[in-house]
Amino acid sequence: MPGYTPGEQPGEGEYIKLNTNENPYPPSPEVVDRIKSCLAHNFLSLYPPPLCQKLRQQISRVYGIPVEWILVGNGSDELLNLAFRAFLDPDDTVSYPVPTYTLYRTLAHIQEARVLEIPFPPDYSLPIELVDTSASLKILCNPNSPSGTFIATHMLETLVEKSDCPVLVDEAYVDFAGENALPLLNRYPNMLVARTLSKSFSLAGVRVGFVCAHPDMVEGLIKVKDSYNVNRLSQEAAIAALQDFPYMLCNVEKIRRIREKMTENFRNLGFEVFPSQANFILIRRKGNNLECLYQRLREEKILVRYFPELPDSLRITMGSAEEMDQLVQAVIRFSQEACL
Ligand SMILES: *Cc1c(COP(=O)(O)O)cnc(C)c1O
Repeated sequence: MPGYTPGEQPGEGEYIKLNTNENPYPPSPEVVDRIKSCLAHNFLSLYPPPLCQKLRQQISRVYGIPVEWILVGNGSDELLNLAFRAFLDPDDTVSYPVPTYTLYRTLAHIQEARVLEIPFPPDYSLPIELVDTSASLKILCNPNSPSGTFIATHMLETLVEKSDCPVLVDEAYVDFAGENALPLLNRYPNMLVARTLSKSFSLAGVRVGFVCAHPDMVEGLIKVKDSYNVNRLSQEAAIAALQDFPYMLCNVEKIRRIREKMTENFRNLGFEVFPSQANFILIRRKGNNLECLYQRLREEKILVRYFPELPDSLRITMGSAEEMDQLVQAVIRFSQEACL
């Protein structure tokens, strides 16, 4: 099987890094303080709490969901992994719309599951075939990557309601959107909502995500997880980040404003830009290959994401205002060149 290819992670400071949807702002100062104070004690010699009990309680308080409906993972990637392991036997079918997060395909391969990839319509609305098909697991990345587009909660509800299998909603970017699926949770015991602290909370390096689902579902996922899946420092860092929720909201607001401005800028430069509810935008020049633009930006030490399956598009993470200015200036300069 082919393995998963993660986005490039160059040495620190080498590039303006707009390729893996990290947050341009640092995490809350409370997070750093918490980690430092942990290290002052004999903190590292003990195993971490296996179910992240304190962190679960904090998530429960912040999101208004009972503790038994929450499972914490080593990044939401781990939780996706657990869901594939728990719900898919060999030859079972997992279905999701494409293009989307390519890790789903890799996880299916590992599980020897069948993959039913359903193309999004051109406007990235919910493909009705995903609602109607029968599968052992369905996934919806919402907002979707790499398009940034969002499927309204009432449509998502149709999907969950009409599916007789677990439906996992991957909400890695939902803090940048206007609605989310958590309010549906108590009505649909077949729904799982996966979240991460990697994007909106600026904690990609800490590796903490969580999934919210019916307690029976959570119990099943616990059976297949490593006992000590989230290290002690990460648990404390995540608690501190969630205690400083307004700090996250403030950064999200800044990023949303930059996103709206960039959408307009790139449209003015002649690109199609999909309406994004995430911290990135997908820009497109229909029929053109943008690999050349990607390469030229790379030479200028600006890293964006080029997907060979979407050759006429580039995915651009929203960086700081200064980083975005540099990007736009570079694109304007290259616009004169043959590749555009
Ligand atoms: C970033 C991302 C994740 C993984 O998040 P981690 O918590 O860092 O593992 C999951 N799903 C999607 C769609 C993502 O973009």
